[in-house]
Parts: sequence; C-alpha cells; structure tokens
Amino acid sequence: MDSLARKFGTPLYVYSADEILGRLDMFAAAFKGIDHLVCYSVKANSSLAILQLLNGRGAGFDIVSGGELQRVLSVSREAAERVVFSGVGKTYVEMDLALDADILIFNVESAAELTLLAERAKKKRRLARFALRVNPDVFAETHPYISTGLREHKFGIDIGAARRVYREAATSRWLTPVGVSVHIGSQIRSAEPFGAAMGRVAKLVRELRTDGIQIESVDAGGGLGIEYRAEYSFRPLEKVTEYAAAMTATLGGIPVRLLLEPGRFLVAQSGALVARVLYVKKNGKKTFVVTDAGMNDLIRPSLYQAHHEIVPLLRRTGGKRVVDVVGPVCETGDFFARDRELPRLEQGDLVAILDAGAYGMSLSSNYNTRPRPAEVLVEGRKARLIRRRETIQDLLGPEVNLG
Ligand SMILES: *Cc1c(COP(=O)(O)O)cnc(C)c1O
Repeated sequence: MDSLARKFGTPLYVYSADEILGRLDMFAAAFKGIDHLVCYSVKANSSLAILQLLNGRGAGFDIVSGGELQRVLSVSREAAERVVFSGVGKTYVEMDLALDADILIFNVESAAELTLLAERAKKKRRLARFALRVNPDVFAETHPYISTGLREHKFGIDIGAARRVYREAATSRWLTPVGVSVHIGSQIRSAEPFGAAMGRVAKLVRELRTDGIQIESVDAGGGLGIEYRAEYSFRPLEKVTEYAAAMTATLGGIPVRLLLEPGRFLVAQSGALVARVLYVKKNGKKTFVVTDAGMNDLIRPSLYQAHHEIVPLLRRTGGKRVVDVVGPVCETGDFFARDRELPRLEQGDLVAILDAGAYGMSLSSNYNTRPRPAEVLVEGRKARLIRRRETIQDLLGPEVNLG
C-alpha cells in the first residue's frame, strides 16, 4: 500500500477484487440449492469497476435512484434484467427510465407510489412487475440511523395493510405483483431478526396465494453486518451460513426465488482508506494526529460514531500512545478515532483506515472544497486506478461565475 500511496497520492481508497469475489462466493455457498439471486446494493460502493466485477459473475443489482440505474446500464444493458429498484421517493422520471430498461422488479414503498407506477406503465404501455416493500415491525439491534424495519420508520408499507394494497393493485392492467420485499436495516450482526422478518413475509405470501396472487420472489433485503473491531473475531462464511439458515427455516419451503441485497457484507472489508499524517500536535493533555483524509472522504465515524481500525503502514519502535486521529475539515466532528491507543505516528507516516470499502467513497462529499480521493482496485498482483483523484476544476465546473 506504501507504493500505491506514492504512485497515486493520498488520501487513496484501495479495494481488493479477490476479497469482494470471495464474499460473493460465500453467498453462493451458503445459499447453495436454493433458488436465489444476489442483487448487490449499489449504494454501498457504486464504483463502475466494482459493478463490472460483480456483473462479470452474474450478480444482480439493488438500486435506489435513476443515477444508480444509469451506472448499472453503463456497465451492461443486459444487467437490467437483474435490477431491483428500491427507495421511498422514486420520481416519475426514474420510473420511466426503469420501465424503458425493463428492470426485473420495482420494490414499491407506498400506495401512492404504486398509483404513479401504474400511470407511468400505462403511458409507456409496459407492464410493471412489482413487490411491495413491507415493514415487518421487527427490531434489529443496530445504529438508529440505519435501522429501517419498525413501524415508525419511513420505509415500506405496514405488513398488516399490505394484503389489501396487493388486492387493489392486482386489478390494474399495468401492474403485475410478483414479489414481496423487506429490508430491516443495516449492520445487523445477529441472524435472528432476519429470520423473524422472513417468518412474517412467509405468512403474507401464503395469504396472497389464497387471494390468487402468485408471488414468485421474496426479496430479503440486505443488512448483514460485519465486525469493525479487531478484538472481535469475524468468520464471514459462518455468518452468512447462519443468516441463510435462519431465513430458509422461517420461509418454510415456500417455492419462491430468493432475492438478496447485500451491500456492506460484500465490499466493506475489501477496502481501506490510506492517508498521510500531516501533523502531530498536542492541545493540553490531548495528542492529535492530523491526516490528509477527512470526514468528507469517510464520514462513518462522524455520522454513526462508527469504529474503524487504524493501522500505521510503518511500524515504529517505541510504545503506544493515546491519540485522536482527525482530519483537516473545519468541524469538531471531523475525526476517525478518539482516545485510541495507537503505535507511535510521526509527520509523513501513512495509515490505513480499515474496512472502508462500504459507505466510504459513496458517502463522500466535496465539503471544504476538497477533491474526492482516487480509487485503486487490486486484482491479484495488479493494481489499477479505477477513479482518478478529482481536481478543483471538476468541482468548480458546474458553477456559474457571476463576476
Ligand atoms: C442500503 C440497502 C441495502 C444494503 O444494505 P447493507 O447493510 O449494505 O447490506 C439493501 N437493500 C436496501 C433496500 C437498502 O436500502
């Protein structure tokens, strides 16, 4: 990573293709013998190169905007048949784009959205295949910002009201109900809530079948978590196997195709953000390590109080020190670690902020007029630049100079 940092500069996102494909293989192994399709959640890391990598293995995609659809289509037109479109605020423009592309399925989140979808489908004279995203009212232990499966959240339709909405939709010429979907949140590390949600979905699917609505697919959403802390061991294959077992047990052998929307689990641990130490400074009792990466590059610590392991790329001798690792952005919330015991770091050293492959670059911004980092994909012994570092010209380009 040293040589990559020298070659491409810092801050730099580095991803491992082998790690991503390895995770995809774990899903294949855990769901072996079960009719399923992995639809990678594009928002976790929307890099075209990563989409290409996964498309090459036949993966589908879970998108939440027209922009993400265009990303997928730019990788492969044919991939549209493996696209599920989620999101609580789809515009008619986005619906039209997805209808034209003939995507696999719309995950619809409200009765009002269904009405608009029927209108657009009629206008285009195309059938819209849809699933209702139901809200199973399952509590999942995670950060409140990324928990989505409770009645009080903005996502989905109350599972108790879903049957009626399906029955009404079934009368439309332009709507084809083909699935039921759920997504209960993100960074969920126990298999239990996934099983509970599937149990409720299975009940709904059976009810819909008695209503004459043939449900072909169940979309279990994403949300499978990882361990960000080095002190917890994490065996990803065991995790995904447990997850598969919990869901298939409660689905109870209903003959449906299972759609899975992992994001974080596939890409988080494939990536690191490499940064250089600009300064080490002391304020009172505290020592601050100021890096050239900031919260605009990786916002998870600031936004979710998320933990990321930080490792120096050069191991210096001497004891550890308790430090705050912070960025250059003018916000007190701009930190990667607080009161963290780390090996000695000096000006000019490189650090890797680990497990930054998911919700890192995709959540980055240009705050403080900071160009976004470059991204590199390592495949075997080859490292390729997959996104060049932004320039100030890239940032100023869209603006109108009134002067
Ligand atoms: C964000 C999201 C996902 C992916 O979540 P992860 O926690 O990254 O697996 C899947 N489906 C939907 C609908 C989402 O909003």
